[in-house]
Amino acid sequence: MADLLVADNICKNFGNFTALDDISITIPTQSIFGLLGPNGAGKTTFLRIINQITMPDTGKVYFEGEPLHPSHVGHIGYLPEERGLYKSMKVGEQALYLARLKGLSKAQAKERLEFWFTRLGITHWWDKKIQELSKGMAQKVQFVITVLHNPKLLIFDEPFSGFDPVNAGIIKKEILYLREQGATILFSTHRMESVEELCEYMALIHNSKKLLDGKVADIKREYKSNTFEVGLSAPNEESLLKELKSRFIVTPATYKSITEDLKLRLQIKEDESPNDLLHYLIGRAQVNHFVEVIPSVNDIFIKTVTQDA
Ligand code: ADP
Ligand code: MG
Repeated sequence: MADLLVADNICKNFGNFTALDDISITIPTQSIFGLLGPNGAGKTTFLRIINQITMPDTGKVYFEGEPLHPSHVGHIGYLPEERGLYKSMKVGEQALYLARLKGLSKAQAKERLEFWFTRLGITHWWDKKIQELSKGMAQKVQFVITVLHNPKLLIFDEPFSGFDPVNAGIIKKEILYLREQGATILFSTHRMESVEELCEYMALIHNSKKLLDGKVADIKREYKSNTFEVGLSAPNEESLLKELKSRFIVTPATYKSITEDLKLRLQIKEDESPNDLLHYLIGRAQVNHFVEVIPSVNDIFIKTVTQDA
């Protein structure tokens, strides 16, 4: 499938401060792409460039292969980091008004708002003023407004900040639903676990630079360390442990189990396979647990940022 959005060599300076240093990313159509990085990394600046709020100093953005143009705005839904709704306006009134601004007819706007308000169980908020809503509630309303015109590309800047875990979960579910309906989703976050849960693709930005990007599964494969978590029982665990230590890099492991295992992480050599390890262990112990250690996005983040420094 073709790429929906391509950003080539984007640079942006504010005075003599470099906010984006040669950032390139490619977002495949109908993917969920996570832009990950600590506060101040440059994520919001990048998203503002894609939304044509800020111009890059150099570099180009392409939307469905065409140079980004004001006419593309209608195909993009953007939830900015600074959530702005008119505080004294009523929820329904405001939602209808903003929907009309996005080019929906009155009937369409009503129909889609009804769909989304029902879906999220917030129909009773319709006549409340925004100022009567909590931050998270207002954010839910703004989420609905962002997705209302069925844009091809949805851009959410820190969509989970301001939400409690339950509501963050609801928004995650809706992001998956929107992707299923054909949307492509780009979101920024400083929280590793949301990339882990949702994204097929990610880019890591740190200090204005892109440190890595690609398919999350490929990145994990690249960063794996041939380490296996095992749970063993044997008549003489002490001598087994001694033997294992002479053969592998051994560190303790913790995981939940119902057996009294010797819980270890064993790192094998590049030229050894999981089967080799399993054969070796089966000859010496009862193997109750055997699983490859997959690096988390957090592990990868720490490793990459430390290498960079
Ligand atoms: P993130 O969203 O990853 O937290 P931002 O893109 O908001 O990061 O900011 C990146 C850096 O650029 C920060 O150091 C910020 O202070 C700076 N910056 C962002 N916008 C401006 C601006 N309009 N003028 C000056 N500096 C800015
Ligand atoms: Mg930001």
